[in-house]
Amino acid sequence: MGWDKVIGHQAAKERFDRSAARNRVASTYLFVGPDGIGKTKFATQLAKGILCEQTADNSIDSCDQCPACQQMDALTHPDLIRVCRPEGKAFIPIELFIGPKEKRHRQGLCHDIGLKPFSGGRKIAIIEDADFLNVEGANCLLKTLEEPPANSILILVGTSEQQQLSTILSRSQVVRFSRLTTEQVKSILDGMELESDVPNAELAAAAGGSVSRAALLSDEDCMEFRKSLSRQLALSDPARDGFLSQVTGFVDAAGKESAAKRGRAILTGDLAIELYQAWLAAASGAESPEIDPFLLGLFSDAGGDRQAEARVARCIELTVNMQRKVRANVMPRNAIEIWLRDLGRTLRGEMVRESPDEFTLTLMS
Ligand SMILES: [Zn+2]
Repeated sequence: MGWDKVIGHQAAKERFDRSAARNRVASTYLFVGPDGIGKTKFATQLAKGILCEQTADNSIDSCDQCPACQQMDALTHPDLIRVCRPEGKAFIPIELFIGPKEKRHRQGLCHDIGLKPFSGGRKIAIIEDADFLNVEGANCLLKTLEEPPANSILILVGTSEQQQLSTILSRSQVVRFSRLTTEQVKSILDGMELESDVPNAELAAAAGGSVSRAALLSDEDCMEFRKSLSRQLALSDPARDGFLSQVTGFVDAAGKESAAKRGRAILTGDLAIELYQAWLAAASGAESPEIDPFLLGLFSDAGGDRQAEARVARCIELTVNMQRKVRANVMPRNAIEIWLRDLGRTLRGEMVRESPDEFTLTLMS
């Protein structure tokens, strides 16, 4: 793999080109942007370029031939450290930062990044899933962030700055990544072997600029659910006609794992937010080729109603709240029930303000 395989993100690439040319690559970066757009791939290619033994030290290009490049392709380079949230865990366990109890501070990222580089002249650590750092994990990282070992680079990969703890945020250089275009998603899908009856063009249009979303939607049931969810949410009362059981049925069909159910509830929220954004775009006439024509078609007669626009904007807030609750381990079923009820109320014009008590109550139930 080389930079030619990293689709999009040209501005970020140029930023690192400039930093490397001036020998001013920082010690800690926070990459933020939606899931599934290639941030980790970018981070890995950046590490490869830095660790490549053939290209100049002040370049992030990789030769893709030398032993270091080959080790990077296999993700076995001894100077690369990778940490991610294990499946089913709510947070990244501190053991991955400071080692297991019996080997505390003698293993883990914070220890390994301080070791002398084996061959690359640099130690590079990539923390995927930085959204899932809890206070304990972030505290483990503090010393490394405050006094980064010489020649070390730490890259945290998350979705937004709001999801990060201030201790991390204040010590990182933030690099923002944008959604891919529909065309970019399609070109990536064309190079993948997805077993799906849904055509790549339709997947790309529905993907919201995210390849991982496209992969989820390649499951026909997911794609069908997206269509019925969009149609139902475009109605004035999203809670009617047994829609709640349809949504919770979709969430429960993820399997027994609660993380998988949470994932589907969050996906439902993402799909809803995109629908509402399409609604607002249709209402304001700000339609763009990046918005799925299917969604825009649901709002062909929208526009001119400022009150309706305010309600739709409120629906986006309610959806973000629902996702926040699910991430905070509220039962997806409870969060979804309240969400659909409040969407209905909001769209009918009974603007609801959520009380903090309700959030606490649901958390306890
Ligand atoms: Zn190389």
